[in-house]
Amino acid sequence: MDRQQEFVLRTLEERDIRFIRLWFTDVLGFLKSVAVAPAELEQAFAEGIGFDGSSIEGFARIHEADMLAKPDPSTFQVLPWRSEAPGTARIFCDILMPDSTPSFADPRYVLKRTLARAADLGFTFYTHPELEFYLLKEQVAEGGKPEPVDSGGYFDHTPHRAAHDFRRSAIMMLESMGISVEYSHHEGGPGQQEIDLRYADALTTADNIMTFRLVMKEVALEHGVFASFMPKPFTEQPGSGMHTHMSLFEGDRNAFYEPGAEYQLSKVGRAFIAGVLRHAAELTAVTNQWVNSYKRLWGGVGASAGAGGEAPPYICWGHNNRSALVRVPMYKPQKGHATRIEFRSLDTACNPYLAFAVILGAGLKGIEEGYELPPGAEDDVWALTTAERRAMGIQPLPQSLDEAIVEMERSDLVAEVLGEHVFDFFLRNKRAEWEDYRRQVTEYERDRYLKVL
Ligand code: GLN
Ligand code: MG
Ligand code: MG
Ligand code: MG
Repeated sequence: MDRQQEFVLRTLEERDIRFIRLWFTDVLGFLKSVAVAPAELEQAFAEGIGFDGSSIEGFARIHEADMLAKPDPSTFQVLPWRSEAPGTARIFCDILMPDSTPSFADPRYVLKRTLARAADLGFTFYTHPELEFYLLKEQVAEGGKPEPVDSGGYFDHTPHRAAHDFRRSAIMMLESMGISVEYSHHEGGPGQQEIDLRYADALTTADNIMTFRLVMKEVALEHGVFASFMPKPFTEQPGSGMHTHMSLFEGDRNAFYEPGAEYQLSKVGRAFIAGVLRHAAELTAVTNQWVNSYKRLWGGVGASAGAGGEAPPYICWGHNNRSALVRVPMYKPQKGHATRIEFRSLDTACNPYLAFAVILGAGLKGIEEGYELPPGAEDDVWALTTAERRAMGIQPLPQSLDEAIVEMERSDLVAEVLGEHVFDFFLRNKRAEWEDYRRQVTEYERDRYLKVL
């Protein structure tokens, strides 16, 4: 047994923890949990705990259903909302096949595999997500109208007691679980919140995002409200994105930083952006995986950035340009290590392991193949006409899940990063989601057509 495993077992005893939740994530990004007694944990560390993979979305076909969940002791954490004794803790797991090889269906493994590729090139991938979500008065029954907890707006402070108290408890809860928060504020929509996590390596960040979504739901329940990560719950209000700041480090040197270069951005940084842009359309089904995700991305078309809520539907990059898909934030000259890019299409309802994997895969491809970065866009891309955008060579992101699936289907890059199993499952699942959506006759249509036609 290694030191980390011993530490976990000792902590269980010292803190009277009787329930250990083994966590993992299905292909669509839903958290799965199985509780084991402390006595089982030693064996779980050694061999993993068996479960039926065929009941987990995207994991296995029936005839190869047996799988093992093997806890990663570095992710051990006592759950603070279960503070009464005996306590409860959680550990993220890696999923293994019966012969102890990693399961190709495990999103955490998909990310680990891509991180290992980065490591082969000498890079560590750091990410820092800005998580947006809505706080609603209560969970909505089917057909019901969601009601935000307040009518606040961007950075609003005083009158929104509920949101303020919520953020305070939520952040304290996250911090007590070792997840550092950098900023938090009321976002643009009524009841909409943003909490930004401190940067960490991408695997830790992805684990943290899984924890974050659960913690927000738990804290909301405690406050008698409901938290939703749906990308675009309201037609007339901005959607909830997950802008993510990214950088590659070589040891403790930021590989995106080059003093004196334009925007302090190194050749590696430029090639990374070029890779992300060139493959942006192909990876959008993964970063924006729901029918509803595209209502966020395209919610402002014909109107302005305001109505679209600053979600970026066009493939371009810019320096400090909030309409661009990739933004290079204003640099602080004394902070070279902070040079980074902000990728803005992601939404909070993605599977963070898969999303980080495909973005990193695209960036590495740009570096390996030496892609040239096209000129940046300094205009407000939303305000340009289609002809102007075309003249500048700016392409749109997919406009629906259907278009995104078509782009993904022909992507060698996404197939390689996700691996055949996840790639096929994901496409099949998303195709089915689209078909189901397409056949729906909606309220909108009845309101618009029933009387006049
Ligand atoms: N809510 C916007 C989005 O969906 C972002 C708003 C902002 O952070 N500037 O991406
Ligand atoms: Mg922000
Ligand atoms: Mg924001
Ligand atoms: Mg941002």
